[in-house]
Amino acid sequence: MNGLMMQQPLLVSSLLTHAERHHGDQQIVSRRVEGDIHRYSYRELAERARRLASALDLLGISEDGCVGTLAWNGYRHLELYYGVSGSGRVLHTLNPRLHADQMSWIANHAEDEVLFFDASFLPQVEAIAERVKSIRHFVLLADRSAMPASSKIPKLLCYEDLIEQANPDFEWPLLDEQRASSLCYTSGTTGNPKGVLYSHRSTVLHSMAVALPDALSCSAAEVILPVVPMFHVNAWGLPYAACMVGAKLVFPGPALDGKSLYELFESEGVTVSAGVPTVWQGLLTYVEAIGRSFSTMHRTIIGGSACPPAMMRAFQENHGVQVLHAWGMTELSPLGTACVLKPSQQRLTTEQRYAIQGKQGRAVFGIDMKIVGADGAELPWDGKTSGELLVRGPWVVGEYLHGEGGSPLVDGWFPTGDVATICPEGFMQITDRAKDVIKSGGEWIGSIDLENIAMSHPAVAMAACIAARHAKWDERPLLIVVKKPGAELSREEVLQFYEGKIAKWWTPDDVVFVDAIPLGATGKMLKQRLREQFQNHLLGERA
Ligand code: AMP
Repeated sequence: MNGLMMQQPLLVSSLLTHAERHHGDQQIVSRRVEGDIHRYSYRELAERARRLASALDLLGISEDGCVGTLAWNGYRHLELYYGVSGSGRVLHTLNPRLHADQMSWIANHAEDEVLFFDASFLPQVEAIAERVKSIRHFVLLADRSAMPASSKIPKLLCYEDLIEQANPDFEWPLLDEQRASSLCYTSGTTGNPKGVLYSHRSTVLHSMAVALPDALSCSAAEVILPVVPMFHVNAWGLPYAACMVGAKLVFPGPALDGKSLYELFESEGVTVSAGVPTVWQGLLTYVEAIGRSFSTMHRTIIGGSACPPAMMRAFQENHGVQVLHAWGMTELSPLGTACVLKPSQQRLTTEQRYAIQGKQGRAVFGIDMKIVGADGAELPWDGKTSGELLVRGPWVVGEYLHGEGGSPLVDGWFPTGDVATICPEGFMQITDRAKDVIKSGGEWIGSIDLENIAMSHPAVAMAACIAARHAKWDERPLLIVVKKPGAELSREEVLQFYEGKIAKWWTPDDVVFVDAIPLGATGKMLKQRLREQFQNHLLGERA
């Protein structure tokens, strides 16, 4: 017997309709590309998103066509989030930090029909315009007065003109909830990037999970500033979750330096923020240099890469900002786990609590996870045994766009490519990416632990640990270090710092000092690049 409840599809447009009706006056504040601060309400967002949806009809975009965006975090990008998906089309957020070859490859693969972009990306768009034949319209996200006098792009359209002519009373269509709503490509460190096509259903369910108190805990009382870009996995779902709960949203635009972020946190009373560790490094350095702290921010969500414990301590002990460590990936929309302590763990000592907080956390409802060995057999949750992490759930990828790479699933589970342990209380800890694990004499050494220890040294700004080839042990850890400006530090001092903190044989064989560690388009360290450069560093030494 079926239940007798209403059949109401879970749609992205319903998030906006809810925000408009119940939180219409709530504010959305954006630092614009032009540098000024823009401010309006959810009510105005909803009207402009409807106009945009109607403008897509006027432009003749197919009913389920892909709409590309190349934009910072800001109100117009948010209008695209809702206007495009709400109308039944697919929002495809392109990452402006990619090389032109990769960007045009992705836009061609997605068959984008129109591209909306911020003025700062005009040079990138001019570089790819000729190479993406499917794009029929280029729209600059700007006022009429900010349109360039000339451009290599013929018939460049103005966003404000476009939506001014469109219908403010556009009615959101009642779509099938399984229909595609947005598209993100994986970073493609191995092979071509792959398209992950989210549905309305997966997006709404993910937003509900994101907003839960033991996940990212979003509510109408919070002022949320996502530093994580809207062009990377939908800014971790925060633009949807904020609408769902009616939180005030603050967007930083292109100004992601410590000073600009800090000023916005303070002037807008931001309470929660989210981003990758590399961004927080800049913010902490700035705040500490000016001898200030945060007056309203009480929580920061850190993910995308492992959060170094030293950063956690700096936020919590020096600034009273609680760090929430979270893990996810493009294929998971992205949230998989969040590290919120259980009530019984609040009674532990500070050091014991830090040890748990350093883990990536427990699965949010909807995500089922397990670790498996090389033979595929499930491994115990003892906090010690590590294996590949597999997940499944309603917002986990089932297959990639155009069936690229065949089915990614193994017996209905998605292999994440991360190596992890899970403790009896269910807290998962990533020890490495499978391809970054250091295999020394048949044993595995996790590079993240070694990096975290190095980064807790006061003279170290950033550290990456890679597998270097070794004549006797196959691979040994090699530490690449960027010193803090003006700091003095020797190889011996770094190696001594490991004493007593890890098993002796895990100690890196050598330390190389560099000026900078290369970062990828989503702020992660490009270890592959470091491996290419330094993999033979230990050959011939200490065989
Ligand atoms: P992306 O799909 O670009 O978001 O990258 C996902 C990958 O980032 C994951 O598979 C992990 O390897 C890594 N990652 C994400 N969050 C964390 C975290 N909190 N700690 C360690 N690695 C992480």
